Amino acid sequence: MRGKKRRLTAPSTTPWDQKSEREIGPAEAIVRACHRNMYRYRHAPASLDGEAEFFNAYTRDACPGCASPKIQSKGYDKNGMRRWRCRSCGKSFSPATGTVFENHKLPVADWTEFLLELFSFESINGITRANRRSTTTVPYWVAKLFAVLENIQDGVMLSGTVQIDEKLYPLAAKNQPLMPDGSKMPGGFSRSKICIGVGCDRRGSSLFVREGLGKTSGAKTMAAFGSRIAPGSKLIHDMENGHNMLVRELDLVSEVYNSKAICKLPDEENPLREVNRLCFLLELFLNSHSGFDRDDLDGWLDLFWVIMNPPTNKMKKVAFVLDRAMHNSKTLSYREFYKKKPS
Ligand SMILES: [Zn+2]
Repeated sequence: MRGKKRRLTAPSTTPWDQKSEREIGPAEAIVRACHRNMYRYRHAPASLDGEAEFFNAYTRDACPGCASPKIQSKGYDKNGMRRWRCRSCGKSFSPATGTVFENHKLPVADWTEFLLELFSFESINGITRANRRSTTTVPYWVAKLFAVLENIQDGVMLSGTVQIDEKLYPLAAKNQPLMPDGSKMPGGFSRSKICIGVGCDRRGSSLFVREGLGKTSGAKTMAAFGSRIAPGSKLIHDMENGHNMLVRELDLVSEVYNSKAICKLPDEENPLREVNRLCFLLELFLNSHSGFDRDDLDGWLDLFWVIMNPPTNKMKKVAFVLDRAMHNSKTLSYREFYKKKPS
């Protein structure tokens, strides 16, 4: 039986836990009550109305462990979630098994809230602080999100009038290459920067792809855009020689501008304004998560893609991600995550 003295985990504690109502002032009492309510809300099992219905809507026709279609319904668990048993391997499973929600380590209500904050350009530190979440939980949730979003830009196809450009983003300070004498490289040195290919078209589709270290090349531009721009499209771009192969291979109608000349134009006359704006926003976005591990750049670019592409409504974006999470078998155990990434 759970007694009154049950040991609470650290985030729920307040300075007044050992005091009775009469021993503390009204202001202290309200702070304590708010904190406890919030904690209880966040940790209540299956706290969310409709959560079981959400999961149960994703029915199973095969075992997530061995892919056998010989599965048998086993009714519902205590939270109202469906259960099945595999007649081939004997394992029991629910609609959440094999997804990021497995074992309820990721409450849907909490994740929904977290995604809304991320889509509002909140920083990870801000999200952790604002919700008194532990500093280990939020990076783990981000990693789960990146697993769900993986390859999301594969289906992008820019067409019609397309603009492309490159954004160079610095490596983390500790990975910056040094001069032979140990001093910092001069600022403009491109090997200390990661090249990100950015593209968009007039229908509102955009694309953000890591090209590699240093400036772009024919091969890098082809790898980034070659399968993601419809052949025969019109390409508006700067005088970067690395674009020539792309224009040739995809038979694009090329419209070239001198970036030094057009940057003096007022914004509405700049033929590359849409892609320039995306580069600018991308930099703001990456800077707001500036301490991020550059190995995770692809994940951050996928997240930025979700933020910049339809649907525009943030709640619709969250619904889109939750749906993708249920259709993707991606798990990432907490232990596995911190083995790879000691905090
Ligand atoms: Zn099985």
